[in-house]
Amino acid sequence: MSYNIAIDGPAGAGKSTIAKKLAARLGFVYVDTGAMYRTIALYLLRQGIGPQDEEAIAEAVQKVDVGISYEDGAQQVYLNGENVSSLIRTEKVSQMTSQTSVYLPVREKLVELQKKLAAAENVIMDGRDIGTCVLPNADVKIYMTASVEVRAKRRYLELTQKGAQCSLQEIEQEISERDYRDMHREHSPLRQAEDAVLLDTSELTIEQVVDAMEEIVKARGIFAAWK
Ligand code: C5P
Repeated sequence: MSYNIAIDGPAGAGKSTIAKKLAARLGFVYVDTGAMYRTIALYLLRQGIGPQDEEAIAEAVQKVDVGISYEDGAQQVYLNGENVSSLIRTEKVSQMTSQTSVYLPVREKLVELQKKLAAAENVIMDGRDIGTCVLPNADVKIYMTASVEVRAKRRYLELTQKGAQCSLQEIEQEISERDYRDMHREHSPLRQAEDAVLLDTSELTIEQVVDAMEEIVKARGIFAAWK
């Protein structure tokens, strides 16, 4: 039997940073589901398929093989056999992803893969619909959020530290647009599951959030089972 921890929340709340660290502490596999949606979006961009072309997207999804592997504990994503992990983090791909993740054929394909991974391993999985849809019976569910200002500032610092030129205002705008789309789509919109613990990271450091999450996991009594 595997243990599953589900983390959902809006863009830039710190889900992946925290999930990676917690996975290392607990010896769990971290599954980044956003990377899978990004991989399909990259394929669609390469094929020149527009985000509104639902029919072409449904057809294209049948031709996409999304693969996952772990190298030194870091998740790698493969698009029809090509490692695209370093190509899916651009703003263009982010926007395309939130526009194309609304379609049912895209979601069905990836949810199936995600469920298989969670059944096989102890996982910490992050995304938008993990606690509500992918792993409704997860042992622990967290809804991680932060104010849009804080999330934009974190993203801005991350980008400028890498040497990118960007505008804080634009980033805030892009994050707000993405949140709106993710929360208002018809299929599996982002929302807090009824049994999820709400964690607002606006005023917390990364270590404080990881500690808080470890406490939540311990409080569920499942910690002793594998430590
Ligand atoms: O988490 P990340 O920012 O990489 O996700 C990119 C986009 O993928 C999100 O804005 C959302 O539209 C989509 N996504 C989703 N369901 C998930 C994970 C991501 O719809 N479980």
